[in-house]
Amino acid sequence: MFVRAMQSASHPILAQIVPTRRCNLDCGYCNEYDKTSSPVPLETMLRRIDRLAELGTTIITLSGGEPTLHPDLDTIIRRIRSSGAIATLITNGLLLTPDRIRALNRAGLDYLQISIDNLVPDDVSKKSLRVLDQKLQWLAKGAEFGVTINSVLGASVRNPEDAITIGRRARELGFTSTVGILHDNGGQLQPLETNQRGAYERFRRLGTALFSFAHFDHFQENIGRGLPNDWHCRAGGRFLYICEEGLVHYCSQQRGRPGVPLETYTVADIRREAAKPKGCAPFCTISCVHQTAMLDEFRERPQQTLTGILDRRRALDPDFRAPAAVNVLSWLFLEPRRRDFFGNLIVRAFRLKRS
Ligand code: SF4
Ligand code: SF4
Repeated sequence: MFVRAMQSASHPILAQIVPTRRCNLDCGYCNEYDKTSSPVPLETMLRRIDRLAELGTTIITLSGGEPTLHPDLDTIIRRIRSSGAIATLITNGLLLTPDRIRALNRAGLDYLQISIDNLVPDDVSKKSLRVLDQKLQWLAKGAEFGVTINSVLGASVRNPEDAITIGRRARELGFTSTVGILHDNGGQLQPLETNQRGAYERFRRLGTALFSFAHFDHFQENIGRGLPNDWHCRAGGRFLYICEEGLVHYCSQQRGRPGVPLETYTVADIRREAAKPKGCAPFCTISCVHQTAMLDEFRERPQQTLTGILDRRRALDPDFRAPAAVNVLSWLFLEPRRRDFFGNLIVRAFRLKRS
């Protein structure tokens, strides 16, 4: 994924696609579900996956609604894998059983993300650790794919300390954990109250993945403090959101822009939309789009970006030593001629698609 992102700026790094808008929950803050939609027909889904693959998409994420409600989920995941893309799934986890987990293993799922909002269900959210802990244990025992547990903070979350308990439980089970901040209907930050901000800071000290915006340019600190960020959102290009109608949107919270059918979307559209400044960027909390932007920052300014990431990591943990893989990566990619040479080599060795 990293090598492909470095090789070209003309393909999507990540596309989120909706196999069904329907959800089996009704979280109070959510604007991404309904209770009536039918699943997108399998043939239509496969055509859309093929089109994303033709555009050179590196990661295809199934989201929703609740994607595990789709009757052909495993076939869709298999198609993503056979197209050469990385297959990931965002789910509320309610339908996970040992059999379902084994089926996801067989389909070749790469990563799964579950959001857990609180310890016990309330009127806003039933995505609770008490409801989902058994599923997490099944995942810890049986999943052959990576698992990330995402907890949230924001006005609708009654007890901010829940996020820390959820993060600790995730790590205890061997999963990655992240925390997000609830946004309004335009993807915009709703500033945190003092107790939420304190919980956010403590969560960040639990430790985060090295390649995260948490260590880049004070991005996460600004979000936590309600301050704007200066970054370039490349949604519509490096990140795509494909709705159940098969239209391309910037992200789940900016639907209708550009609102073009995926089947007619071209490399020229990708380049144009990625380059467009987005007025909603300064207070945006859509972290998966931030992550794709970070890869592009790395591509365009490798030295400064890697130095920024490592400095932030050391500020959080003075004993931090960069893993050997990161040192190798720095040597391979920081010098442009070496980057081109080894990038080409790796693309050929892994038979990655060039775009
Ligand atoms: S589970 Fe996810 S998609 Fe369903 S209502 Fe809650 S936040 Fe929305
Ligand atoms: S900045 Fe980009 S990702 Fe964020 S809300 Fe706007 S279009 Fe969506």
